[in-house]
Amino acid sequence: MKAHDGMYIGGTWRPAAGTDTIEVVNPADEQVIARVPAGTAEDVDAAVRAARAALPGWAAAPPAERGALIGALRDALAARREEIARTVTAELGSPLPFSQKVHADLPVAVAGSYAELAAKHAFEERVGNSTVHHEPIGVVGAITPWNYPLHQIVAKVAPALAAGCTVVLKPAEDTPLVARLFAEAVHEAGLPAGVFNLVTGLGPVAGQALAEHEGIDLVSFTGSTAVGRRIAATAGAAIKKVALELGGKSANVILPSADLAKAVSVGVANVMSNSGQTCSAWTRMLVHTAQYDEAVELAATAAAKYGDRIGPLVNAKQRERVRGYIETGVSEGARLIAGGVEPPREQGYFVSPTVFADVTPEMTIAQEEIFGPVLSILRYEDEDDALRIANGTVYGLAGAVWAGEESEAVAFARRMDTGQVDINGGRFNPLAPFGGYKQSGVGRELGAHGLTEYLQTKSLQF
Ligand code: NAD
Repeated sequence: MKAHDGMYIGGTWRPAAGTDTIEVVNPADEQVIARVPAGTAEDVDAAVRAARAALPGWAAAPPAERGALIGALRDALAARREEIARTVTAELGSPLPFSQKVHADLPVAVAGSYAELAAKHAFEERVGNSTVHHEPIGVVGAITPWNYPLHQIVAKVAPALAAGCTVVLKPAEDTPLVARLFAEAVHEAGLPAGVFNLVTGLGPVAGQALAEHEGIDLVSFTGSTAVGRRIAATAGAAIKKVALELGGKSANVILPSADLAKAVSVGVANVMSNSGQTCSAWTRMLVHTAQYDEAVELAATAAAKYGDRIGPLVNAKQRERVRGYIETGVSEGARLIAGGVEPPREQGYFVSPTVFADVTPEMTIAQEEIFGPVLSILRYEDEDDALRIANGTVYGLAGAVWAGEESEAVAFARRMDTGQVDINGGRFNPLAPFGGYKQSGVGRELGAHGLTEYLQTKSLQF
């Protein structure tokens, strides 16, 4: 077990103000693998001061210079690929190949995109007799979750830095080790002191202190809708800008003309990926009544193939939460066709890949985000019925549509109340805006849209 003692503030690792620590647990075997300091309001204050002191210099740096340093950060992350992947596997529990391909490689791609975007973004434009200047919003407080622990850090920090903002990061308490590796990469890349600062700690202590700090100009939060609502209320009282990436209950709509076998197998894989801990997962599969029984059979076979290949959930609390939802599904009359609540294993927070058939739209498992490897299959009568079910939750983060003709799927997708839709299995695009309609969030991350979140405009009239 490794004990870390320090926060990355003002370009150096300095001791935490208090002595409390957080245990980092490997969810596959329940062993404590490290301890990190539990930051307090004092640590947050020191980090915000460092970020504020660094702001004028960083904001005034030529965008190409900022881009070059973000490029150096990308290279530092790429050089640490194996260390990052092994660290995420140890603290989140995901299988190593997934940690390499997704948890380590995706952040490198996103950092690379902002190295380029910083250099080519139009920070100034001419509108009639005005020049419009896109200026950094200031000091950003970034609060991130554990499910894609490095991706979510980079999806906030890289665009903020590209925009000329400085950052204080409070990562999730379950996955602080990869956040420390990120801070080391920032240091190696040679970013000026105070441009990026890290405070590890508990949400209601360090997270809340950051969200409430008056030296923060924008809070960018990814996590649960419950905490997001609190952060938005606090920011609202201070007239402070917020960006929120929250939960989801996305629909995978399989139209009758689609390749059913492909749509079902990709749909099951989508939900089981990262053990179901993906906010944009297609957790509701919508199938026409005439094809329903065939789809259910295909899904049961696909889920059974996973066996032990999915990792554990992140902690005991999440496992109990997911098991509770499975029990609710059974008690509300849904039919288990794969997985279910099994006795806990001797070690590790595992839940088997679980699929429910005969799910109706009003059931709890069709409405609430489960955040585990649980798929609900619902039937629809016609396209309008499918649309009503797809749009019938408080969320609107992602989704999928499958049809014989791409144009048919696109027409349906345009009627969905959701931030992104994959057409016939379209691949994730790290340059396309990512974010939610309705209670799934406010604002967009990734690509040029993600950069503009960190800018405010000033017009000069001539
Ligand atoms: P969470 O909201 O409990 O925690 C997220 C972060 O907020 C953590 O860093 C935590 O320490 C911090 N936090 C907790 N309480 C706080 C408070 N009172 N003030 C300030 N910060 C606080 O969420 P979680 O359980 O860690 O993550 C799972 C949730 O995140 C799911 O609901 C999932 O859908 C959502 N999520 C959304 C996206 C997205 O992009 N939309 C991505 C990943 C996860």
